Amino acid sequence: MKPLTGRSASAISELVRDVVDRPFRARQVALWVLQRNARSFDEMTDLPKALRRELARRFSLHEPEMAEVVASLDGSRKYLLRLADGTTVEAVSMPEGQKVTLCLSSQSGCAVGCTFCVTGALGAGRNLTPEEIVGQYRLMVRDLGGDVERVNIVFMGMGEPLLNTTHLGTALEALMETVSPKRITVSTAGILPGIRWLAGLPRRPLLAVSLNAPDQERREAIMPITRRYPLPDLMAALRAFPLERGRRITFEYVLIRGLNDAPEDAGALARLLRGIPSKVNVIPLNEDPDHLPGLRRPDDGTIDRFAARIRDEGLTVTVRRSRGSDVAAACGQLKGRQASRSATADHCLPAASPSRR
Ligand code: SF4
Repeated sequence: MKPLTGRSASAISELVRDVVDRPFRARQVALWVLQRNARSFDEMTDLPKALRRELARRFSLHEPEMAEVVASLDGSRKYLLRLADGTTVEAVSMPEGQKVTLCLSSQSGCAVGCTFCVTGALGAGRNLTPEEIVGQYRLMVRDLGGDVERVNIVFMGMGEPLLNTTHLGTALEALMETVSPKRITVSTAGILPGIRWLAGLPRRPLLAVSLNAPDQERREAIMPITRRYPLPDLMAALRAFPLERGRRITFEYVLIRGLNDAPEDAGALARLLRGIPSKVNVIPLNEDPDHLPGLRRPDDGTIDRFAARIRDEGLTVTVRRSRGSDVAAACGQLKGRQASRSATADHCLPAASPSRR
């Protein structure tokens, strides 16, 4: 059965064209899927019963199954989701007043192998389908009870989104039906063909780059993908990246003790970013001795000095204080914990006495 979830309104209309008797019925179906987040065709009560039966016979409203939800004291919620083939992925919701940021996964693991990342330590997975990607959004919005005024989406969960551009593109079209591209961020480890693909999209989400070191040598040591896509080439591609008025590229920088956390590194980072409308997001490492042995988080003074130096250089900088640190909310940590039982810092999320629902 073909899924209608993970598709845009026009794609849904095209899929159901042969089934509906009049064009406005197709728009109704799209509205139920995209705006009302329907879980079953039975919910589509303004459609004739016979049409609902036929839709259910030919199409699915597929989305992942919620395997576990862990609520953090700070309000963030971490979801372990089971896909149809038994694979699990993670997603996180992080509320802030009436806003919520939803972090989605694009792959069920990651082959990029960044040394500071639990997902990377767990190894490669498969590309998620559009319905699996958008299904994370649907599940979390439903779980939050529709009690949210504004949703931001960040692709900073498991996997490298720009190694899954075909499905990501379809999923973005569906997500942009309800969420402005200005509120969607795709975060990459620096996959050049993927950055060029993103640059060519008619409606572009925001771009974030997981940088983590100010020079080729150290970046290569912690992000092996730098051998394939060297830092100078990455920076050239970012300088050429089309930015709408007022937009900036976010540079994520996972701060690791003794490795990339000196004030001089902050100075070198600022020089590297000169000329690019940018903001820097400093992410102190989420320690995970099981999966990331030997890597430590810098102390608070070092973190503050690093951020201050970047600020002194005239750049906007934020320090991401861990959300859900009591529930293993850094990407890959919940799955990693599960893997350790039976098996976060990707570019990605901060790492919750769990309270389970
Ligand atoms: S940081 Fe991102 S790209 Fe790197 S291994 Fe982790 S999930 Fe993959």
